[in-house]
Amino acid sequence: MTSTLPNDNIKKFDDQITNKLISEIIRDRIKNSGKRFSANDNIAEFINPGELEILEREVASRVKDLLKSLVIDVENDHNTQETAERVSKMYLNEVFKGRYHEQPKVTSFPNDKNLDEIYTVGPISVRSACSHHLVPILGECWIGIKPGNKVIGLSKFARVADWVFSRPHIQEEAVMILADEIEKLCEPKGLGIIVKAQHYCMKWRGVKEPNTSMINSVVRGDFRHDLSLKQEFFELVKQQSATNNY
Ligand SMILES: [Zn+2]
Repeated sequence: MTSTLPNDNIKKFDDQITNKLISEIIRDRIKNSGKRFSANDNIAEFINPGELEILEREVASRVKDLLKSLVIDVENDHNTQETAERVSKMYLNEVFKGRYHEQPKVTSFPNDKNLDEIYTVGPISVRSACSHHLVPILGECWIGIKPGNKVIGLSKFARVADWVFSRPHIQEEAVMILADEIEKLCEPKGLGIIVKAQHYCMKWRGVKEPNTSMINSVVRGDFRHDLSLKQEFFELVKQQSATNNY
C-alpha cells in the first residue's frame, strides 16, 4: 500500500462508503448533476444495474418501521408479515414505476405522406397517486395530434401515458409532463390532451365526495393558436366519449 492516508482515516473513508444507504448514494448522484428529484420526476438514469433490488430492500425495511409505528404486530399478524416487501415492490415496480424505470422504447417514423389531418386517441386509462397523500388517482385521457415531422404508433401513446402517470402527481402537472414527452417523441404541429380523473383523496378521505372528478387539458402549437382546430379536437373527444362502448 502506498497510500499516504493514516490508517484510521482510511477506515473512516471506507466506513462512509459502506454505511451509506443506496437511497443516499442515488440522491447524491442526482444532486451532483443539478437535476430535480421531485415525486413526479423520473430518476432511472441515476440508478445503476442491480441497485433497484437493493433499494427495494431498503424501502421494505422503512415500510416495516412504518407498520411498527402504527402499532401493527408484524411479527404475529399473518396478514401483514410480508406487507412491507409487497408495498416496496408495488411502489418501485408497479404504481411508481414511471419514477424508477426508463421510458418504454418508442420508435418514431418520418411523416413521409405529410399527414396533416388531426386525430385523437382515447380513452386511455391512467392510474396515478396524489403526491400529497399517496392515494390513487384513476381516470381517462384523450390525446389529439396534428402530425408534424414524425409519427408514432397509436398504442405508444398509451405506453407513454402509463409511464408518465405511474408516479406520485398532481393532475395539472401530470398533463404538462405527458405533453412534454409526446412533443419530444413526435414533434406534432398541434397537440391537445384532456384528462378526466377521480381522486381518492376526495372520495376515500377528506371531504369524502364519491362522484366528483377533475377534468383538465393542455393545448399546444396549432391547437392553441387556431380556435377552430381546438374546437374540432374537443368535438372529436366528445364523440369518442359517447361511443366508448363500440
Ligand atoms: Zn392527496
